[in-house]
Amino acid sequence: MKAFFFDKMFETVVLSDTVFSVPSRYQKLAPLGVGAQGMVCSAYDTVTQQNVAIKKLSRPFQNVIHAKRAYREFKLMKLVHHKNIIALLNAFTPQASLEEFQDVYLVMELMDANLCQVITTELDHERLSYLLYQILCGIKHLHSAGIIHRDLKPSNIVVKSDCTLKILDFGLARTAGTSFMMSPYVVTRYYRAPEVILGMSYKENVDMWSVGCIMAEMIRGEVLFPGSDHVNQWNKIIELLGTPSLDFMMRLKPTVRNYVENLTYFEGSPFHELFPDEFFPSGSTDNDRLRACP
Ligand code: AMP
Repeated sequence: MKAFFFDKMFETVVLSDTVFSVPSRYQKLAPLGVGAQGMVCSAYDTVTQQNVAIKKLSRPFQNVIHAKRAYREFKLMKLVHHKNIIALLNAFTPQASLEEFQDVYLVMELMDANLCQVITTELDHERLSYLLYQILCGIKHLHSAGIIHRDLKPSNIVVKSDCTLKILDFGLARTAGTSFMMSPYVVTRYYRAPEVILGMSYKENVDMWSVGCIMAEMIRGEVLFPGSDHVNQWNKIIELLGTPSLDFMMRLKPTVRNYVENLTYFEGSPFHELFPDEFFPSGSTDNDRLRACP
């Protein structure tokens, strides 16, 4: 249901219960998706004559965690320039004074779909490797800027029909930990590395875990570790990959270590069972170097 109200400069549109107050240069608003911070819609920018995505950060100052996350996203989006990271085109608030200031809107390039929508389709070798290559380029750039994402997942990755790809957000703010959301939005933990799930110290390689989970899903056609909650997420990991080594256990906090060590022992499955050759797309006819096995 859509409703329009007008004032001098801002136009107010109600899209699926969310009020969007945007400068009148933005026309044809339509809902695109909902993320952890609020709703995103598509629009046409009559000034630049391009299609854009507008994200409303809903009540970003309701508490310190939300405020820090909004600030982090805004700051990093302005700082990072890379073809595989979504670019910030504009930002605004409809409120006219500091006393009234409540909402922040971010205007970004518009893409066609998120990766959830393409991940389970039959991808040929060219597309699969090109998508993964672009995720890796984006992540490499974030790492070189000292940013560790920690929460890379298909819903945070957007693509265009020409197979170009961009990473949408900058992941978990350090303060957010693993229990950031209090709203009904469901947090997806399937792609989070053990260090993140178990609250350990972490390095850049936590993002490689997420890329591995995404690649596995593209190849197997299903989520690799579909944990139903925080605890079950860890169980799914050890059922497939096996109980971790003593070295790993030694890095855990005593209470977590006690819990993890007392779980059923799992041997884990070897790579060729998890990823048999027939799961991979057949070799490329155009490019001799793109084949599943030598
Ligand atoms: P986010 O709140 O950034 O996680 O975005 C929520 C959802 O909105 C994403 O999963 C996408 O489906 C969609 N979306 C966000 N930004 C864009 C964009 N720039 N282009 C196309 N779709 C987007």
